Amino acid sequence: MTVKIDVIIVGAGLSGLSHAAHLLRKRNAKLKRMILEATYRVGGRTVIPAANGVDRWDFGGQWVGSTQTHILELIKELVLEAFMQFNIGKKVHHMGGPGGKVHTYRTSIPAPSPVVLIDLIQLFWEIGRLCATVCIQDPSTNTAELDSMTLYSYITRHAGHPKLKEEMVMCSRSVFGKEPSQMSFLFFLMSAAAGGMLPLLESTPGSASELKIKKGGTQQPSQCWLAERVGWKNVRLGSPVTAIWQDAEWGVTTTTNTFCSAVIVTWPPRLAAKIHYQPALPSREFLTQNMPVGHMIQFIITYQTPFWKEKGFSGETVAGSTSFLFCVTFEPSGNAALVGFIAGQQASQWSSEEGGERRKAVLSSLVKYLGLEAASFIHYEEKDWAKEVYSGGCPINVMAPGLLTYYHPSLRKPCGR
Ligand SMILES: Cc1cc2nc3c(=O)[nH]c(=O)nc-3n(C[C@H](O)[C@H](O)[C@H](O)COP(=O)(O)OP(=O)(O)OC[C@H]3O[C@@H](n4cnc5c(N)ncnc54)[C@H](O)[C@@H]3O)c2cc1C
Repeated sequence: MTVKIDVIIVGAGLSGLSHAAHLLRKRNAKLKRMILEATYRVGGRTVIPAANGVDRWDFGGQWVGSTQTHILELIKELVLEAFMQFNIGKKVHHMGGPGGKVHTYRTSIPAPSPVVLIDLIQLFWEIGRLCATVCIQDPSTNTAELDSMTLYSYITRHAGHPKLKEEMVMCSRSVFGKEPSQMSFLFFLMSAAAGGMLPLLESTPGSASELKIKKGGTQQPSQCWLAERVGWKNVRLGSPVTAIWQDAEWGVTTTTNTFCSAVIVTWPPRLAAKIHYQPALPSREFLTQNMPVGHMIQFIITYQTPFWKEKGFSGETVAGSTSFLFCVTFEPSGNAALVGFIAGQQASQWSSEEGGERRKAVLSSLVKYLGLEAASFIHYEEKDWAKEVYSGGCPINVMAPGLLTYYHPSLRKPCGR
């Protein structure tokens, strides 16, 4: 049976439900909308599994920072409760390869040696200065030079001390799930411009990992929007779209036999290459092919007690270099669990290993950092986001060098500010 409606939205993640569906409703409440979702759940890269049958933890996007005003407004509107990320106590810092010393610190970022500190202050000051020149709404006000280099080439040129380089590589992995050699420096500056370099890395007030949403987590906005605003009758789960055709007679058609005047596509850019468009969309295809997605394997380990707290640790550990398995762990919500991320090159190396081996390696690092108690867990769960057919990676897609310049010829002009 064929169905004719006004607008089809493909994807029932935060963009599809909260953004596209909400904006459409605001513009014209009478528009007939239909959301087509490939999987049998809503929320996309926000998802909550139950661990140990009782507690529920975020297994995808989970932190909200005070510069993320749209999601904060949504949390308020839906009367959801947010709470501060727990970060009190000693944090663990391990850099310099397997032979490197394991340090602890209590400040928001590790205190390096005076020599590294001087380089770090200079580097962060310079990145902050460049961030201030970036116009996020219109990156064409920036120079092509910033877009022509990768984050790695910038670090190599400006981070004097090798230890600082290692820190920056670790930051790139833990924030973007990508190596710094894979992303445009201008794209990096655009991300850091939302508050600055330090807020991107920290979990203190005003930073990117400041808040979490109370039990029910970040999947709730999608579920609430769906239930209250969009209505289940307008959502078709288990409906993957593999092709979109447009012609003068029928308007737009998808593989699900639904006809409409317009389609809003919200699937992650990496997956767009798998979709057949008629007529072809060469500009869009070029764009999406040059937006590599990050690679993260997330794990959550549940314990009987938060033993690290009893020993004065916050649960936050940071490890650099590819010889280590994961780059960061946190205590997810003031409960007896640790959440961690294996990211970037570490994720691609460990993705093909057998799950049991990965778990053994994660636990052995945690034993080294937090003590023998780390080996006695109740429940261990992990998700390799690159293996999720309808996500293909996480947390976000980055832009390859030169891409912004390609799309904005005016980028070639010198920066006017
Ligand atoms: C481990 C992890 C940690 C993260 N941490 C953070 C964080 O701390 N803070 C933050 O702000 N963000 C974070 N993110 C990113 C954040 O979760 C995403 O940016 C956000 O959820 C993306 O929403 P979206 O709707 O744009 O895309 P998605 O959530 O990917 O939704 C797209 C939807 O489209 C569907 N779909 C795909 N292909 C098709 C098809 N062919 N036909 C029909 N449907 C299709 C998918 O099933 C999915 O439901 C993280 C993500 C992950 C995975």
